[in-house]
Amino acid sequence: MKKDASAQVLSKKKQHSAEHPRSIRMQIQRSTAAYAFGVAAATLSITALHLATPLDRIVLHQIYQRLYYIPIIAAAVKFGLRGGLLAALFASVAYIPHVLLHWQHSNPDYALNQYAEIVLFNVVGIVTGALGDRSRAARARAEQTAAELQRAYAELRQTFEQLLRADRLISLGELSAAIVHEVRNPLGAIKGAVEIMEDGLSPNSSRREFAAIAKREIERLDRLVEEFLRFARSPKPVVERTDLHELIEAVASLVERQAATQGVAVARELTSPRTTVIVDASQIRQALLNLCLNALQAMPKGGRLTIRTCSDGEKGIAIEIEDEGGGVDPKISARIFDPFFTTKERGLGLGLSIACKIAIEHGGALTFRNGERGAVFRLTLPASA
Ligand code: ADP
Repeated sequence: MKKDASAQVLSKKKQHSAEHPRSIRMQIQRSTAAYAFGVAAATLSITALHLATPLDRIVLHQIYQRLYYIPIIAAAVKFGLRGGLLAALFASVAYIPHVLLHWQHSNPDYALNQYAEIVLFNVVGIVTGALGDRSRAARARAEQTAAELQRAYAELRQTFEQLLRADRLISLGELSAAIVHEVRNPLGAIKGAVEIMEDGLSPNSSRREFAAIAKREIERLDRLVEEFLRFARSPKPVVERTDLHELIEAVASLVERQAATQGVAVARELTSPRTTVIVDASQIRQALLNLCLNALQAMPKGGRLTIRTCSDGEKGIAIEIEDEGGGVDPKISARIFDPFFTTKERGLGLGLSIACKIAIEHGGALTFRNGERGAVFRLTLPASA
C-alpha cells in the first residue's frame, strides 16, 4: 500500500514537472542565486571578521585570510572557471581595502604577504574552476556515451529478438507445410471415398444428403488448411515500385467503414519526404491491414486510429499505426509477436507474426511501444526499399 502511495506521489511529481518545465527552470535559477549569495555572504563575513579583530591578533588574521579559499573553491566547483574567477576577484576586492587601510603602513612585510595571498586567490579560483569545467565536460561525455550505449544495446536486443522471431516463423512455415501435407492427402482420399459411396446410392436415397454434408465439411477443412498455409508461409516478396501514400490510402479506406461503425476516426499524417518505395505492395498492404485491424479491435468504444509515415534516419522510412486503445499489457508485450499468441477469444494469433515476417523479408523491422493513449506499431522499411 505504502509503496503504491509513494509511487503515486512520484508519478504525480513527474507529471507535475513535465507539465511545468518553466517552474523547474525557475527553481534551478533560484537555487543558483542562493548559492551565489551564500558565496558572497561568506566572503563578506570573513572581511567583517578581519575588520572586527584587533591588529595585534596577527595569527587570527592569518587564519581569516586563508578562509577566503573556501567560498572561492566552492564557487569554482559549482560554476566552473567563470565562477571561480568571479569569487576570487570578489574576495580580492573585499580584502584589499582592509590591507591598504590597516596593514600597509603598520606592517609592510605582512601586507606584502597578503598581496601575494590575493594573487593566489585568483590563481586558485582559475585553476579549480578550469578543473571543475573539465570534470563536468568529462561527466557529460560519459553520460552521453552511456546513453548511446544504452540505445545501441536496446537496438541490438530488438534485432536479436527479431532474428529469434524470424527463426520461429521459419520453423512454423516448415511445420505447417508438413501438417498441410499430412492432412491434405487423407482429406483427398476421404473425399474420393465419399464420392464413390455416393455413386452407389439411388438418386432418391435420403443418404445422399449425408454424403453432401460430408463433402461440404471436407471442402471446408481443405479451405481452412489452405488458409493456414497462406498465413504461415507468406511467399517471398515480389517487389515493384510503389507509391507508399497511395498504398496507405488504400488500407485506410479499407478499414474506414469498419472504423465508422465503432466510432473510430482514421487520421493520416503522411510526412515522409520519400513516397516511392520498392516493396511487395500486397504484402505491405496485408501487414498494415493486420496492424490497423488490431488497432480497431483495441478500440471497441471509439477513438482515433492514426496512420503516420516519417523518415527513419539512415534506416529508411517508418510507417506507424497508433491507436487509443490503452496499449499492450506490459506482461504480455514480450509474446505478442509469437505465432499463435492471442488474448482474443476468436483470435488466431497470427496477425502480428505475419506482419513481422513481411517486415523482416523486406529487410525492415516491426517494433512497438506504448504511447500516451495506446499502442504504436512501427514498420520500418530500409533505405534500399
Ligand atoms: P490476434 O489479433 O489474432 O490476437 P495478433 O498476432 O495480431 O493476433 O496479436 C497478438 C496479440 O497482441 C493480441 O491478441 C493482443 O493481445 C495484442 N495486440 C496486438 N495489437 C494490439 C493493439 N493495437 N493494442 C493492444 N494489444 C494488441
